[in-house]
Amino acid sequence: MNAVQTPSSERLDTDIQFVKGVGPKLAASYGKLGIHTVRDLLYHVPRRYDDRRHLPPIRQARPGQHVTVRGRISYVESKPTRGRAAPIRCVLNDGTGSFALLWFNQPWIAKKLREATGEVIAYGLVKEGQWGPEIASPEWEVIDPEEEAEGFARIVPVYGLTEGLMQRQMRKAATAAVTGYADDLSDPLPPALKKHEKLPDLVWSIKKLHQPDNAEDIELARRRVAFDEFFAIQMLVQLRKAKTKQEPGIAFRYNEVDSTGLFGETSDLWTEIKKILPFELTGAQKRVVGEIWDDMERPMPMNRLVQGDVGSGKTAVAACAMLAAVRCGYQAVLMAPTEILAEQHAINFKNLLAPLGISVQLMLGKQNARDKQKALDAIKGGEARIIIGTHAVIQEGVEFANLGLAVIDEQHRFGVLQRLALRQKSNLVPDVLVMTATPIPRTLSMTVYGDLDVSIINELPPGRKPIKTHWKRASDRPQVYEGVRKLLREGRQAYFVCPMISENEKLQTQAAVDLHYRLSSQVYPDLRVGLLHGQMKPLEKEGVMDQFRKHELDVLVSTVVIEVGVDVPNASVMVVEDANRFGLSQLHQIRGRVGRGQHQSFCILIADATTDDARDRMEVMVATQDGFKIAEEDMRLRGPGDLMGTKQSGNLDFKVADLIRDLDLLERARNAAAKLIASDPDLKRPENAGLATMLHGKREDDAWIPVT
Ligand code: ADP
Ligand code: MG
Repeated sequence: MNAVQTPSSERLDTDIQFVKGVGPKLAASYGKLGIHTVRDLLYHVPRRYDDRRHLPPIRQARPGQHVTVRGRISYVESKPTRGRAAPIRCVLNDGTGSFALLWFNQPWIAKKLREATGEVIAYGLVKEGQWGPEIASPEWEVIDPEEEAEGFARIVPVYGLTEGLMQRQMRKAATAAVTGYADDLSDPLPPALKKHEKLPDLVWSIKKLHQPDNAEDIELARRRVAFDEFFAIQMLVQLRKAKTKQEPGIAFRYNEVDSTGLFGETSDLWTEIKKILPFELTGAQKRVVGEIWDDMERPMPMNRLVQGDVGSGKTAVAACAMLAAVRCGYQAVLMAPTEILAEQHAINFKNLLAPLGISVQLMLGKQNARDKQKALDAIKGGEARIIIGTHAVIQEGVEFANLGLAVIDEQHRFGVLQRLALRQKSNLVPDVLVMTATPIPRTLSMTVYGDLDVSIINELPPGRKPIKTHWKRASDRPQVYEGVRKLLREGRQAYFVCPMISENEKLQTQAAVDLHYRLSSQVYPDLRVGLLHGQMKPLEKEGVMDQFRKHELDVLVSTVVIEVGVDVPNASVMVVEDANRFGLSQLHQIRGRVGRGQHQSFCILIADATTDDARDRMEVMVATQDGFKIAEEDMRLRGPGDLMGTKQSGNLDFKVADLIRDLDLLERARNAAAKLIASDPDLKRPENAGLATMLHGKREDDAWIPVT
């Protein structure tokens, strides 16, 4: 019954070295590209195509165009300059005109060029150079007479290569794979789905990708393979989601708690919340709390993402959810990405919950052994009802008495794996709430985060004024310092954030220490300037944050340790040193430390941005405070994987699909997956057998798929 496990599919698993023209030596190079079998080779689709049907004469090529041209190398020059590897210059001539081709730091190319007796073909961007048109670092190859004989004037695939592999060799191997094996590929998509989505056949598509006749076929074929990539992910995510919903979770019966008299005078949770919060929740906060409580009441495990821009009041929402869990007799844990943030949350929660007699336990990695043991005992024994900590709370040795709810603050800092570890900390299946200020671009909410339900806090607490953002050059520092002084005199406080020089914490600390010295002794000798960095002991950090919170400090110089979550409403100025060293989302988070109170707030980005990219980022920051726009821009500038941290980047490395260009396909794949799962949740039908097999293989090694 299993259509895919026919003997023919084994042929596709043939070792690459047995493909005509490969052999054991080249096989190693293929291995570096992740190509081990014939199947891998068939799926190694060309990076681009060279249309050699109508090559333009060199005379017609204009600066600014990408062109493929053909001609003879007439002159090769490489003169070493000041000890560095010589740039290589050669002239390519086709009788109608000539181009300069240029290479840098690739001395071996000179030899190859001098040996090139026949015609060559070059591809690249034409620029107006010093002596006329030129192409820097072109792709090039010597025209192979054999290939030429097979028909030169066609669309030729250009493959991604690695050292030791030549374009010509790869093309031959791909051709051999297509002619000898492609027909063995079995199409995993059920025919009805293919028909409905108007997708071409898999075998046809793979063949066309390697041996195209025209641009339209390439695009059709590419979209078919891209659809498969999206569809596989959608199936996995949605199957997982469906499975989570079937698992027995906890039904928090907070409505029934009332009748037991646990609430004392107050009659219900809302009343109790009103009593302890110093402010009225915004409409959006109330709606989101309602959505969370509804989830908690249901017996399925909650898996919800709360997205709210910096300052929208996510902490209060978390408190409401955690109180509900505690009132139903369970423990609740809040995990924060930094110690400073965990400490701040602990202080807030203690203040909030002390009147209700609910004990709050802080748990950090750097605590001394005795404190740690005490914390562990309280968590295991159940005296600790609310636990707040860093990733220390998911480390080995931490056992909960009865964990009912886990809240993860600033989820974008945590990998999916940590989410799982937290889940596994309990013999119950706890509800999980993740909170983030980083808007999840649609592409990610449909892939990496596809298993989460989403609540959005789309409203800021009343009275917030937009933050005024200015971009200043290093030479403007004196004016910046004067401007800040004026605000400090009016009773405000200021942050100065030092750049992340590298991952090296020592270097970051040094930068902060230096700036602190300069500000406290030269710029603001008359004011109170504090220092905060990641290498201080937890108690010291806590002390400094406490002073700043109580306004015993006017200025806080800090490394990026304050990037997320820190909340001191009277601080209304944020100065970011060397702002060009930060990514957009990070700048948005940092800026979010101000604008949290009634005062007009300012963010000053000091940057001599020298690259286009850095300038872009500064301009985006000045132009908008909309976290969603910033996240989309960030994704555009950096690529989607990076945005979510290295951990997950691999998930979004599609071979063919392009998350931006093929977004419509992603949506279609999502809908198709939902439809298919609804009609055949266990993939038992014969027409879905191929699909089941394909997903089975993936499920084994795709560890990132959020497993519960
Ligand atoms: P974030 O969403 O960035 O985590 P916080 O939870 O830290 O935001 O809240 C930001 C600030 O707004 C805090 O000082 C908090 O006390 C305050 N706040 C939260 N909700 C409200 C509200 N409904 N009304 C007034 N202030 C609020
Ligand atoms: Mg927060």
